[in-house]
Amino acid sequence: MLSQRNAVTQTKVVQRTRAAEGRAGRSARAGVRANADADLGKAAARENKPLEKANLFSAKFTPFAGDASEEYSLDEVIYRSKSGGLLDVTHDMEALAIYPPEYWKALFDERVGKTTWPYGSGVWSKKEWVLPGIADEDIVSMFEGNSNLFWAERYGREYLGMSDLWVKQCGNSHTGSFKDLGMTALVSQVNRMRKMGKPLSAVGCASTGDTSAALSAYAAAAGIPSIVFLPADKISVAQLVQPIANGALVLSIDTDFDGCMRLIREVTAELPIYLANSLNSLRLEGQKTAAIEICQQFNWEVPDYVIIPGGNLGNVYAFFKGFKMCKDLGLVDRLPRMVVAQAANANPLYRAYKKGWDKFEAVKAEPTFASAIQIGDPVSIDRAIYALTETNGIVEEATEEEMMDAAAEADLTGMFNCPHTGVALAALKKLREQQVIAPSDRTVVISTAHGLKFTHSKVAYHEKRLEGLESRYANPPVVVKDDFSAVMDVLSTRLNK
Ligand SMILES: *Cc1c(COP(=O)(O)O)cnc(C)c1O
Repeated sequence: MLSQRNAVTQTKVVQRTRAAEGRAGRSARAGVRANADADLGKAAARENKPLEKANLFSAKFTPFAGDASEEYSLDEVIYRSKSGGLLDVTHDMEALAIYPPEYWKALFDERVGKTTWPYGSGVWSKKEWVLPGIADEDIVSMFEGNSNLFWAERYGREYLGMSDLWVKQCGNSHTGSFKDLGMTALVSQVNRMRKMGKPLSAVGCASTGDTSAALSAYAAAAGIPSIVFLPADKISVAQLVQPIANGALVLSIDTDFDGCMRLIREVTAELPIYLANSLNSLRLEGQKTAAIEICQQFNWEVPDYVIIPGGNLGNVYAFFKGFKMCKDLGLVDRLPRMVVAQAANANPLYRAYKKGWDKFEAVKAEPTFASAIQIGDPVSIDRAIYALTETNGIVEEATEEEMMDAAAEADLTGMFNCPHTGVALAALKKLREQQVIAPSDRTVVISTAHGLKFTHSKVAYHEKRLEGLESRYANPPVVVKDDFSAVMDVLSTRLNK
């Protein structure tokens, strides 16, 4: 393992690799392009011959669990393994490990925030670890990722007695949620396949709102038709207007997310529509870069805890995968403890966790303000259980009142949280009360969407219009007459309080 090599060897490897790179660059400029296949490429790298990296790194679909010999090209339209199980994108880790950790750190750091296509994207700055085989011109990107890691200093100190609390603001993104990270990967691959002549007339998904917003935006950017199945009256206005504005065919169906998911799977089996749900492991490749980015933002140190709200449960696995790749390639030395936070109204993972993973049972998801995680039968349940067992993980839940209070409380320290982030914050609160998470543990809460997508429920909270909720932190506007003394009255009462 590279991580076990001593520092001296690593420095030498860096020097050798850099020298090889220099030569590779020069020979490419001279028009001498190595045409080696992957094995030749590896041999060449070891002997410091010029590298053709496009051929050196590769990834493929393999069954998530099961037969290791079963594999498919990423250019195939396939969603399930022969046995009907989930697929996973597997990278040639041996090829990636030819380069020492210092090489990857320097490469990733150098690309942040530049306009060089496509590396200025937080996802594509990690291109070799995401979809190494895709041509730069096939990539569909809005320079997603590179979201800020916010030090929640005041919230941590005053409300939770914590000194090292961070919120990864993944919702500060093109369509307002972290779904952009995965969608750039998936739509890029679809774009490539269409250019190769694959008969894919459109991309489609079932969605709790954010997936359809991201899919329709990226599809529109590439000029690919998109179709989205939405549960009628269960998504926010902002989430509904996004695919409409981006020109998607929007089917508003009188069912819940699980019902939409069943329908889209039947439809994509009949028509040449590419399925863009997180059942599709291509999306997880993009999502995982947020975890790599967290390591990078901490100067390649791993936090103690990462708390993520979970619904369909692809993301807990995607984050795990990002951390695991960093560890396996020696960029970091350990994994964080992963925590999934679920809404109590849609908590099948929490129930299974409480029973010691004894038996998973789907539930009928009840309505929740955290509408993106109102899922009772998560597609990625096996992936999630794997990620949690590998990281000594935890599952917590939050009631409607707990999530809205936690979001509102944290808003009072300058954030503007969506209800899903509220679920994660409420879980954090419980883990602090249980003294599972200690005051100085470095903890990252994944904020998954922008609060502005969820103004409806937030306004209702502050106007105390939410049935059954006390709205403890409500701060409604004060209605005042157009009159100086009336204004002064309000100010003196409020300021002297
Ligand atoms: C999709 C989504 C989640 C949950 O991700 P899963 O992979 O489905 O568990 C959480 N929050 C928001 C805002 C989302 O859009």
